[in-house]
Amino acid sequence: MILPKSNRLTPEQLAEVTAIVGEFGCKLQPIIGAVRTIYAIVGDERDELMINRLEGLDCVDRVDRIQSPHKLMDRRSDLASHRITLGGVTLGTELFVIAGPCTIDPKNPQFLFETAHAVKEAGAHVLRGGVWKPRTNPYSFQGDVKSLDLLLEASRRTGLPVDAEVMDEHHLRLALDAGVHMLQVGARNALNYSLLRAIGAAVAGRDTVILLKRGLHMGPLNEFIAAAEYIVSFGNPNVILCPRGTAPALDGYRNHPDESITPLLKEKTWAPVVVDPSHSVGRAAYVPACALAAVAYGADGLCLEAHVQPAKGIGDDPKQALAPGALAATVAQARKLWALSHSPVFA
Ligand code: PEP
Ligand code: MN
Repeated sequence: MILPKSNRLTPEQLAEVTAIVGEFGCKLQPIIGAVRTIYAIVGDERDELMINRLEGLDCVDRVDRIQSPHKLMDRRSDLASHRITLGGVTLGTELFVIAGPCTIDPKNPQFLFETAHAVKEAGAHVLRGGVWKPRTNPYSFQGDVKSLDLLLEASRRTGLPVDAEVMDEHHLRLALDAGVHMLQVGARNALNYSLLRAIGAAVAGRDTVILLKRGLHMGPLNEFIAAAEYIVSFGNPNVILCPRGTAPALDGYRNHPDESITPLLKEKTWAPVVVDPSHSVGRAAYVPACALAAVAYGADGLCLEAHVQPAKGIGDDPKQALAPGALAATVAQARKLWALSHSPVFA
């Protein structure tokens, strides 16, 4: 829909606009109002270049898109009936929980194994664990491929599927070859289209699940949804949206908590939403409240950092990880709230 700057386009302006939309296989349909005329674009109106060319004209105020810019993720898409199942649970049927350490410490594998058992005991469905880590400072510990073997060993010991972040194509190949069930795209890579493309192509035809974190500096929600759609467009619709807080941080929190975008995401897309309160608020003491807020907003699940002895962990664990008691209590409370908010009273 083209909204002109004046009440209507002059014949010359109309000819110019018609020519541009024609180049992109579209037609123009004026909608004449008492005061103002607006112009509908008939055809596929989503071409970015066409919109930029139209918005570059002096006579055009703006172009509003009526079609969803992310057709595959739209609730009206055929994919809307797709369900993701992992760790014995189909998302949307009960609260889905991913938990585990931020970073696996290859020098102290017992921490991972003990944490994995605590995660299982708390009722989580997936064990998370950072093998390779994006760090604020490049000289900080960035992970160790040995941790990949440990993660898979923890999976064998507990029967839980595992989630690990991949930051490049080499990690992607190693993780898939090792049998990692869920690949995490981190906040720093949420708009790294070449990585998203490589992941999309690599998981097509497999049942691997992708946890797409919301980027630290991501702007409009459409950007987040479009990134998810890019992965899905290669053929595997097992993509989960994961709000995890954005910049700028709210004073006292690690990021600006964004669990409140959950209903908006669910209105715009069919994709499940699993919120990560650990990176959002960044302190173990605030995580349970943020987790419950996420469930109250309608999240399908939670991704929680947890460690058997947080103070002895590495990466974010000393600050953010829930100890086993707090993890079990948070999961139990979140489950109750999930059941309450999915009860007929709220339906
Ligand atoms: C993580 O999950 O440990 C992590 C680094 O997350 P994010 O990409 O959201 O910062
Ligand atoms: Mn972390």
